[in-house]
Amino acid sequence: MYKDLLQKLAKGEDLNKEEYLLLIGNRESLRTDAAEAACRVRNEHYGRRVFIRGLVEFTNYCRNNCNYCGIRAANSELSRYRLTGSEITECCDIGYGLGFRTFVLQGGEDMYYTDDILAEIVRQIKKSHPDCAVTLSVGERSRESYRILREAGADRYLLRHETVNRDHYKSLHPDTMSYDNRMRCLYDLKELGYQVGCGFMVGSPGQTEDDLADELLFIRGFKPEMVGIGPFIPHHDTPYSEEKAGSAELTLFLLSLIRLTLPDVLLPATTALGTADPLGREKGIEAGANVLMPNLSPSGVRKKYMLYDNKICTGDEAAACISCLKMRISRTGCEIVTNRGDHNKNGGMINEI
Ligand code: SAH
Repeated sequence: MYKDLLQKLAKGEDLNKEEYLLLIGNRESLRTDAAEAACRVRNEHYGRRVFIRGLVEFTNYCRNNCNYCGIRAANSELSRYRLTGSEITECCDIGYGLGFRTFVLQGGEDMYYTDDILAEIVRQIKKSHPDCAVTLSVGERSRESYRILREAGADRYLLRHETVNRDHYKSLHPDTMSYDNRMRCLYDLKELGYQVGCGFMVGSPGQTEDDLADELLFIRGFKPEMVGIGPFIPHHDTPYSEEKAGSAELTLFLLSLIRLTLPDVLLPATTALGTADPLGREKGIEAGANVLMPNLSPSGVRKKYMLYDNKICTGDEAAACISCLKMRISRTGCEIVTNRGDHNKNGGMINEI
Protein backbone atom coordinates (compact mmCIF):
# COMPACT_ATOMS: atom_id res chain seq x y z
CA MET A 1 0.00 0.00 0.00
CA TYR A 2 2.94 2.30 0.57
CA LYS A 3 3.57 1.94 -3.13
CA ASP A 4 0.58 4.25 -3.58
CA LEU A 5 2.53 6.94 -1.80
CA LEU A 6 5.39 6.50 -4.24
CA GLN A 7 2.94 6.77 -7.13
CA LYS A 8 1.47 9.89 -5.60
CA LEU A 9 4.92 11.44 -5.36
CA ALA A 10 5.83 10.35 -8.89
CA LYS A 11 2.67 12.06 -10.19
CA GLY A 12 3.85 15.31 -8.70
CA GLU A 13 1.56 15.37 -5.68
CA ASP A 14 2.83 16.54 -2.32
CA LEU A 15 3.26 14.16 0.57
CA ASN A 16 2.90 15.23 4.17
CA LYS A 17 5.41 14.44 6.88
CA GLU A 18 3.60 11.28 8.05
CA GLU A 19 3.61 9.96 4.51
CA TYR A 20 7.32 10.62 4.05
CA LEU A 21 7.93 8.90 7.38
CA LEU A 22 5.97 5.84 6.21
CA LEU A 23 8.10 5.66 3.07
CA ILE A 24 11.34 5.98 5.03
CA GLY A 25 10.23 3.42 7.60
CA ASN A 26 9.31 0.92 4.88
CA ARG A 27 12.28 1.51 2.65
CA GLU A 28 13.37 -2.16 2.57
CA SER A 29 10.33 -3.21 0.57
CA LEU A 30 10.15 -0.02 -1.48
CA ARG A 31 13.68 0.57 -2.68
CA THR A 32 13.33 -1.08 -6.10
CA ASP A 33 10.06 0.65 -6.90
CA ALA A 34 11.38 3.98 -5.66
CA ALA A 35 14.53 3.70 -7.79
CA GLU A 36 12.54 2.70 -10.87
CA ALA A 37 10.12 5.60 -10.47
CA ALA A 38 12.99 8.01 -9.78
CA CYS A 39 14.88 6.97 -12.92
CA ARG A 40 11.73 7.28 -15.00
CA VAL A 41 11.17 10.81 -13.73
CA ARG A 42 14.84 11.73 -14.21
CA ASN A 43 14.83 10.40 -17.76
CA GLU A 44 11.74 12.46 -18.59
CA HIS A 45 13.56 15.61 -17.57
CA TYR A 46 17.19 14.98 -18.46
CA GLY A 47 17.31 11.78 -20.48
CA ARG A 48 19.88 9.18 -19.52
CA ARG A 49 22.56 11.80 -19.35
CA VAL A 50 24.92 12.14 -16.43
CA PHE A 51 26.61 15.51 -15.98
CA ILE A 52 30.14 15.82 -14.70
CA ARG A 53 31.59 18.60 -12.56
CA GLY A 54 35.33 18.88 -12.08
CA LEU A 55 36.09 19.34 -8.40
CA VAL A 56 39.13 21.40 -7.40
CA GLU A 57 39.75 21.11 -3.67
CA PHE A 58 41.90 24.19 -3.45
CA THR A 59 42.49 24.61 0.29
CA ASN A 60 42.21 22.42 3.36
CA TYR A 61 42.69 25.31 5.78
CA CYS A 62 39.49 25.94 7.72
CA ARG A 63 38.53 28.29 10.52
CA ASN A 64 35.67 26.05 11.65
CA ASN A 65 35.49 23.06 13.93
CA CYS A 66 32.62 20.98 12.64
CA ASN A 67 32.55 17.81 14.72
CA TYR A 68 32.30 15.52 11.71
CA CYS A 69 34.92 17.01 9.42
CA GLY A 70 38.52 15.89 9.00
CA ILE A 71 39.81 19.31 7.92
CA ARG A 72 38.45 21.06 11.05
CA ALA A 73 40.76 23.73 12.47
CA ALA A 74 41.56 21.70 15.60
CA ASN A 75 42.94 18.76 13.63
CA SER A 76 46.65 19.37 14.17
CA GLU A 77 47.60 16.04 12.55
CA LEU A 78 46.68 17.32 9.10
CA SER A 79 49.25 18.82 6.78
CA ARG A 80 47.65 21.95 5.33
CA TYR A 81 47.87 23.27 1.75
CA ARG A 82 46.40 25.97 -0.40
CA LEU A 83 46.63 26.25 -4.18
CA THR A 84 47.59 29.48 -5.93
CA GLY A 85 45.36 31.09 -8.51
CA SER A 86 47.51 29.74 -11.32
CA GLU A 87 47.51 26.22 -9.85
CA ILE A 88 43.71 26.36 -9.70
CA THR A 89 43.35 27.60 -13.27
CA GLU A 90 45.82 24.95 -14.40
CA CYS A 91 43.54 22.25 -12.91
CA CYS A 92 40.64 23.78 -14.83
CA ASP A 93 42.65 23.86 -18.06
CA ILE A 94 43.45 20.17 -17.68
CA GLY A 95 39.79 19.52 -16.87
CA TYR A 96 38.68 21.44 -19.93
CA GLY A 97 40.84 19.21 -22.09
CA LEU A 98 39.14 16.19 -20.53
CA GLY A 99 35.68 17.54 -21.40
CA PHE A 100 34.65 19.27 -18.17
CA ARG A 101 32.46 22.35 -18.63
CA THR A 102 31.78 23.00 -14.94
CA PHE A 103 34.44 23.61 -12.33
CA VAL A 104 33.65 23.39 -8.65
CA LEU A 105 36.07 25.23 -6.39
CA GLN A 106 35.71 23.74 -2.94
CA GLY A 107 37.60 24.35 0.25
CA GLY A 108 37.53 24.92 3.95
CA GLU A 109 36.62 28.38 5.20
CA ASP A 110 40.06 29.81 4.50
CA MET A 111 40.13 33.56 4.92
CA TYR A 112 43.41 33.77 3.02
CA TYR A 113 41.09 33.83 0.00
CA THR A 114 39.69 37.30 0.43
CA ASP A 115 36.89 38.48 -1.83
CA ASP A 116 39.49 40.13 -4.07
CA ILE A 117 41.64 37.04 -4.40
CA LEU A 118 38.75 34.66 -4.96
CA ALA A 119 36.97 37.01 -7.37
CA GLU A 120 40.16 37.27 -9.43
CA ILE A 121 40.44 33.49 -9.59
CA VAL A 122 36.82 33.23 -10.76
CA ARG A 123 37.43 35.94 -13.40
CA GLN A 124 40.52 34.13 -14.66
CA ILE A 125 38.66 30.85 -15.10
CA LYS A 126 35.73 32.55 -16.83
CA LYS A 127 38.12 34.43 -19.09
CA SER A 128 39.96 31.27 -20.16
CA HIS A 129 36.77 29.23 -20.43
CA PRO A 130 33.77 31.47 -21.10
CA ASP A 131 31.70 28.43 -22.05
CA CYS A 132 32.09 26.92 -18.59
CA ALA A 133 30.16 27.29 -15.36
CA VAL A 134 32.02 28.08 -12.16
CA THR A 135 30.63 26.72 -8.92
CA LEU A 136 31.90 27.82 -5.54
CA SER A 137 31.71 25.76 -2.36
CA VAL A 138 33.62 27.71 0.23
CA GLY A 139 31.21 27.88 3.12
CA GLU A 140 29.66 30.81 4.90
CA ARG A 141 30.53 34.33 3.80
CA SER A 142 28.80 37.68 3.96
CA ARG A 143 26.07 38.62 1.50
CA GLU A 144 28.42 41.27 0.15
CA SER A 145 31.09 38.66 -0.46
CA TYR A 146 28.62 36.44 -2.30
CA ARG A 147 27.59 39.47 -4.36
CA ILE A 148 31.17 40.27 -5.36
CA LEU A 149 31.86 36.65 -6.32
CA ARG A 150 28.67 36.47 -8.34
CA GLU A 151 29.62 39.65 -10.14
CA ALA A 152 33.04 38.15 -10.88
CA GLY A 153 31.22 35.40 -12.75
CA ALA A 154 30.46 32.60 -10.30
CA ASP A 155 27.32 30.83 -11.53
CA ARG A 156 26.54 28.34 -8.80
CA TYR A 157 27.14 27.77 -5.10
CA LEU A 158 27.07 24.59 -3.05
CA LEU A 159 26.41 24.95 0.64
CA ARG A 160 24.92 22.00 2.40
CA HIS A 161 22.66 23.06 5.22
CA GLU A 162 23.81 19.80 6.94
CA THR A 163 20.57 19.36 8.93
CA VAL A 164 17.23 21.09 9.06
CA ASN A 165 16.86 20.41 12.79
CA ARG A 166 18.11 23.33 14.87
CA ASP A 167 19.15 21.26 17.91
CA HIS A 168 20.83 18.71 15.70
CA TYR A 169 22.68 21.52 13.92
CA LYS A 170 23.93 22.74 17.29
CA SER A 171 25.17 19.29 18.26
CA LEU A 172 27.14 18.86 15.01
CA HIS A 173 28.79 22.29 15.08
CA PRO A 174 30.80 24.53 17.39
CA ASP A 175 29.08 27.40 19.17
CA THR A 176 30.65 29.86 16.74
CA MET A 177 28.36 28.54 13.99
CA SER A 178 24.62 28.84 13.78
CA TYR A 179 21.72 27.32 11.92
CA ASP A 180 20.36 30.80 11.27
CA ASN A 181 23.51 31.98 9.57
CA ARG A 182 23.68 28.84 7.44
CA MET A 183 20.11 29.45 6.27
CA ARG A 184 20.79 33.17 5.79
CA CYS A 185 23.62 32.22 3.44
CA LEU A 186 21.41 29.90 1.41
CA TYR A 187 18.67 32.50 0.97
CA ASP A 188 21.22 35.24 0.14
CA LEU A 189 22.79 33.02 -2.52
CA LYS A 190 19.40 32.34 -4.03
CA GLU A 191 18.45 36.01 -4.08
CA LEU A 192 21.75 36.92 -5.71
CA GLY A 193 20.91 34.68 -8.64
CA TYR A 194 23.20 31.74 -7.99
CA GLN A 195 22.02 28.26 -8.89
CA VAL A 196 22.12 26.85 -5.38
CA GLY A 197 22.86 23.42 -3.98
CA CYS A 198 21.93 22.50 -0.43
CA GLY A 199 22.14 19.11 1.23
CA PHE A 200 22.91 17.00 4.24
CA MET A 201 24.78 13.97 5.46
CA VAL A 202 22.83 10.75 5.88
CA GLY A 203 23.34 9.14 9.27
CA SER A 204 25.19 11.99 10.93
CA PRO A 205 25.31 11.35 14.69
CA GLY A 206 21.93 12.12 16.27
CA GLN A 207 19.92 12.17 13.03
CA THR A 208 16.48 10.53 13.25
CA GLU A 209 13.95 9.34 10.64
CA ASP A 210 11.82 12.25 11.75
CA ASP A 211 14.66 14.60 10.76
CA LEU A 212 14.89 12.91 7.37
CA ALA A 213 11.20 13.51 6.71
CA ASP A 214 11.76 17.17 7.62
CA GLU A 215 14.74 17.27 5.23
CA LEU A 216 12.49 16.23 2.36
CA LEU A 217 9.90 18.84 3.28
CA PHE A 218 12.59 21.53 3.53
CA ILE A 219 14.08 20.62 0.18
CA ARG A 220 10.64 20.68 -1.43
CA GLY A 221 10.03 24.17 -0.07
CA PHE A 222 13.47 25.63 -0.75
CA LYS A 223 13.59 24.30 -4.33
CA PRO A 224 17.36 24.25 -4.77
CA GLU A 225 18.78 23.60 -8.23
CA MET A 226 20.96 20.87 -6.73
CA VAL A 227 20.89 18.62 -3.67
CA GLY A 228 24.06 16.98 -2.38
CA ILE A 229 23.64 14.10 0.04
CA GLY A 230 26.08 11.42 1.11
CA PRO A 231 26.53 9.08 4.03
CA PHE A 232 28.37 10.40 7.07
CA ILE A 233 31.73 8.63 7.37
CA PRO A 234 33.81 9.03 10.53
CA HIS A 235 37.26 10.58 10.44
CA HIS A 236 39.78 9.26 12.96
CA ASP A 237 40.97 12.70 14.13
CA THR A 238 37.56 14.18 14.93
CA PRO A 239 35.23 14.02 17.96
CA TYR A 240 33.09 11.63 15.90
CA SER A 241 35.88 9.10 15.29
CA GLU A 242 33.95 6.34 17.10
CA GLU A 243 30.54 7.10 15.60
CA LYS A 244 28.78 4.74 13.23
CA ALA A 245 28.92 5.51 9.50
CA GLY A 246 25.72 6.42 7.66
CA SER A 247 24.07 3.80 5.49
CA ALA A 248 24.63 3.67 1.74
CA GLU A 249 21.25 1.94 1.28
CA LEU A 250 19.40 4.70 3.11
CA THR A 251 21.29 7.30 1.06
CA LEU A 252 20.20 5.57 -2.16
CA PHE A 253 16.58 5.47 -1.04
CA LEU A 254 16.67 9.16 -0.13
CA LEU A 255 18.19 9.99 -3.52
CA SER A 256 15.13 8.37 -5.09
CA LEU A 257 12.74 10.29 -2.84
CA ILE A 258 14.52 13.58 -3.56
CA ARG A 259 14.31 12.90 -7.31
CA LEU A 260 10.58 12.20 -7.00
CA THR A 261 10.06 15.29 -4.84
CA LEU A 262 11.97 17.66 -7.13
CA PRO A 263 11.87 15.95 -10.54
CA ASP A 264 14.28 18.30 -12.31
CA VAL A 265 16.84 18.71 -9.52
CA LEU A 266 20.51 18.06 -10.22
CA LEU A 267 21.45 15.20 -7.97
CA PRO A 268 25.02 13.99 -7.52
CA ALA A 269 26.06 10.46 -6.67
CA THR A 270 28.73 11.61 -4.25
CA THR A 271 32.25 10.48 -3.47
CA ALA A 272 31.12 9.66 0.09
CA LEU A 273 28.54 7.28 -1.39
CA GLY A 274 31.30 5.71 -3.50
CA THR A 275 33.41 5.38 -0.36
CA ALA A 276 30.66 3.75 1.73
CA ASP A 277 29.96 1.23 -1.05
CA PRO A 278 32.45 0.41 -3.84
CA LEU A 279 29.58 0.53 -6.34
CA GLY A 280 27.90 3.47 -4.60
CA ARG A 281 28.15 5.94 -7.44
CA GLU A 282 26.74 3.54 -10.02
CA LYS A 283 23.95 2.62 -7.61
CA GLY A 284 23.33 6.31 -7.03
CA ILE A 285 22.74 6.82 -10.75
CA GLU A 286 20.45 3.80 -10.73
CA ALA A 287 18.54 5.37 -7.84
CA GLY A 288 17.86 8.58 -9.80
CA ALA A 289 21.01 10.72 -9.47
CA ASN A 290 22.40 12.44 -12.58
CA VAL A 291 25.62 14.22 -11.58
CA LEU A 292 29.15 13.06 -10.77
CA MET A 293 31.86 15.26 -9.35
CA PRO A 294 35.24 13.69 -10.04
CA ASN A 295 38.35 15.22 -8.61
CA LEU A 296 40.57 17.54 -10.64
CA SER A 297 42.83 18.49 -7.73
CA PRO A 298 46.55 17.91 -8.28
CA SER A 299 47.28 14.35 -7.12
CA GLY A 300 49.90 15.67 -4.67
CA VAL A 301 47.28 17.32 -2.48
CA ARG A 302 44.37 14.91 -2.76
CA LYS A 303 45.21 12.85 0.29
CA LYS A 304 45.22 16.05 2.34
CA TYR A 305 41.60 16.91 1.56
CA MET A 306 40.41 14.12 3.82
CA LEU A 307 36.98 15.05 5.10
CA TYR A 308 36.48 11.43 6.22
CA ASP A 309 38.50 8.22 6.33
CA ASN A 310 39.21 6.05 3.27
CA LYS A 311 38.03 8.58 0.71
CA ILE A 312 38.21 7.06 -2.77
CA CYS A 313 40.11 8.31 -5.86
CA THR A 314 42.80 10.10 -3.87
CA GLY A 315 45.64 8.45 -5.78
CA ASP A 316 44.41 8.84 -9.35
CA GLU A 317 45.11 11.39 -12.03
CA ALA A 318 42.10 13.28 -13.36
CA ALA A 319 42.27 11.52 -16.73
CA ALA A 320 42.27 8.11 -15.07
CA CYS A 321 39.28 9.11 -12.92
CA ILE A 322 37.18 10.16 -15.85
CA SER A 323 37.85 7.07 -17.92
CA CYS A 324 37.10 4.87 -14.89
CA LEU A 325 33.82 6.72 -14.36
CA LYS A 326 32.82 6.51 -18.01
CA MET A 327 33.22 2.76 -17.87
CA ARG A 328 31.33 2.45 -14.60
CA ILE A 329 28.44 4.63 -15.77
CA SER A 330 28.06 2.91 -19.14
CA ARG A 331 27.11 -0.22 -17.19
CA THR A 332 24.10 1.60 -15.77
CA GLY A 333 22.70 2.38 -19.22
CA CYS A 334 23.44 6.06 -18.72
CA GLU A 335 26.04 8.14 -20.44
CA ILE A 336 28.40 10.86 -19.27
CA VAL A 337 27.98 14.09 -21.23
CA THR A 338 30.26 17.07 -21.25
CA ASN A 339 28.03 20.12 -21.53
CA ARG A 340 27.49 22.59 -18.68
CA GLY A 341 24.45 20.69 -17.49
CA ASP A 342 22.52 23.65 -16.21
CA HIS A 343 19.46 23.17 -14.11
CA ASN A 344 16.49 22.77 -16.38
CA LYS A 345 13.51 24.61 -15.00
CA ASN A 346 11.36 24.12 -18.07
CA GLY A 347 11.44 20.39 -18.30
CA GLY A 348 12.57 20.55 -21.93
CA MET A 349 15.95 19.43 -23.15
CA ILE A 350 17.81 22.71 -23.03
CA ASN A 351 21.17 21.30 -22.10
CA GLU A 352 22.41 20.43 -25.56
CA ILE A 353 25.20 22.56 -26.95
N1 SAH B 1 33.62 24.48 3.76
C1 SAH B 1 32.66 24.15 2.74
C2 SAH B 1 32.89 22.78 2.17
C3 SAH B 1 32.67 21.70 3.17
S1 SAH B 1 33.14 20.09 2.68
C4 SAH B 1 31.28 24.31 3.32
O1 SAH B 1 31.13 24.56 4.50
O2 SAH B 1 30.32 24.18 2.57
C5 SAH B 1 31.71 19.58 1.81
C6 SAH B 1 30.74 18.67 2.55
O3 SAH B 1 31.36 17.47 2.95
C7 SAH B 1 30.18 19.21 3.84
O4 SAH B 1 29.17 20.13 3.59
C8 SAH B 1 29.70 17.96 4.55
O5 SAH B 1 28.32 17.72 4.33
C9 SAH B 1 30.54 16.85 3.91
N2 SAH B 1 31.36 16.17 4.93
C10 SAH B 1 32.20 16.73 5.81
N3 SAH B 1 32.69 15.80 6.66
C11 SAH B 1 32.11 14.63 6.31
C12 SAH B 1 32.17 13.29 6.83
N4 SAH B 1 32.91 12.99 7.88
N5 SAH B 1 31.44 12.34 6.20
C13 SAH B 1 30.68 12.64 5.13
N6 SAH B 1 30.57 13.86 4.61
C14 SAH B 1 31.27 14.85 5.20
